Amino acid sequence: MDIILLGPPGAGKGTQAKKLAEKLNIPHISTGDLLRQNVASATGLGKEAKSYMAKGALVPDELVTRIVGERLSGGDIKNGFILDGFPRNIAQAQALDEILKKIARGINLVMDLDSSEPVIIQRLTGRLVCKSCGANFHIKNMPPKNDMLCDYCGGELYQRADDNEATIKTRLEVYRKEVSTLIEYYRQKNILKTIPADGEAQVVLKEMVKLVEQTDDSLKV
Ligand code: AMP
Repeated sequence: MDIILLGPPGAGKGTQAKKLAEKLNIPHISTGDLLRQNVASATGLGKEAKSYMAKGALVPDELVTRIVGERLSGGDIKNGFILDGFPRNIAQAQALDEILKKIARGINLVMDLDSSEPVIIQRLTGRLVCKSCGANFHIKNMPPKNDMLCDYCGGELYQRADDNEATIKTRLEVYRKEVSTLIEYYRQKNILKTIPADGEAQVVLKEMVKLVEQTDDSLKV
């Protein structure tokens, strides 16, 4: 099953995508993670992307589309994938359609995680991320068992540079500006489902699994 997760930063896309990907045994493809890996290893692409990311602005479509195209050429997507953080605007959605057409694939389901601003800010300002495996924790809501160490792999936890209130507000503005057209784009294709995502992560995941089970894998657009 080929799935897209939409939703503002802090709606829980990363956490849910990771869990759903494990359950369905398909890869979780996060453009934010791929970009951060490029920044950390100072690749040409990472150097170009870094200043946009620090401000909370979108990295140019051409760069992100290139990363996604390369990632989707891997053999590990044969049973499906979950895209998290891509597409973020119509140009990227159209570029994705082109990439998928070339590899004779299509999207089955777009899940839009709907979260309110106070919840988003509370989640992101307290978010801790594992440097090694990317797992997410929260200082209050989901603290790690050992101080600043990942429960799953023992990796070091850190706060993302863009998880501060000023940058979060910019990221939310950027998201809102683009999202309505994107949502309309997928609504017209009849593959969009909205999920309330302010509540408990487990309840949201259950709802997502239900939607996947109700989706016909052969109906792709
Ligand atoms: P995320 O981890 O999804 O919150 O993304 C972190 C940052 O990476 C964003 O604020 C953008 O600067 C950049 N980014 C991630 N995905 C995209 C995308 N699809 N298009 C443009 N920029 C992106």
